[in-house]
Amino acid sequence: MNKYIPTSLAKSVYEIDFVTLYDKGKRVILFDLDNTLATYDDITPTAKQLELNQKLKQIGYQIYIISNNHDKRVKLFTQEFVVDGYLVHARKPFTKKLAAYIDQNKLLKETIILIGDQLVTDIACANKLGLDSILVKSISRSTEKWYTKINRSREKAIIKKITRENPQMADEIKKIIDIRGTDNE
Ligand SMILES: [Mg+2]
Repeated sequence: MNKYIPTSLAKSVYEIDFVTLYDKGKRVILFDLDNTLATYDDITPTAKQLELNQKLKQIGYQIYIISNNHDKRVKLFTQEFVVDGYLVHARKPFTKKLAAYIDQNKLLKETIILIGDQLVTDIACANKLGLDSILVKSISRSTEKWYTKINRSREKAIIKKITRENPQMADEIKKIIDIRGTDNE
């Protein structure tokens, strides 16, 4: 199977049926931060993000943020957004740091769901580690950093390949990822 194919897709983190996932045995959420949970401009969480946070804790989830961003950014965000832990400079799609983090926290792979907005980093990482994943639409493409723009250009080629192998999945992905690179709002 193509390593960039997510387990499922959603328009945003607010459209994921977390109760059903819990009923199916998921207990741990690994969130990408930037453009998945929050925009780059959301230095602290919004009321809507905190509401989701509270809902997830009430269901009973363990929440972790797995970010390629730096410590200061994630530390500030998690002062209000309640997490069980976070990993910064995660170097997704490389799996070494995340694999070690999963072991260290004694997380069971089959109970994990990784949620992210990028095929090249988040979804590739989940698939390499054998984790279920959900691809969500980026909240705001216009605030993306230069390194994310490079990943985005790779996505076009990846989607082309998926189109050859699994046209239906490619259509689903195209609905989530705007390959023109404009804002999705
Ligand atoms: Mg992201």
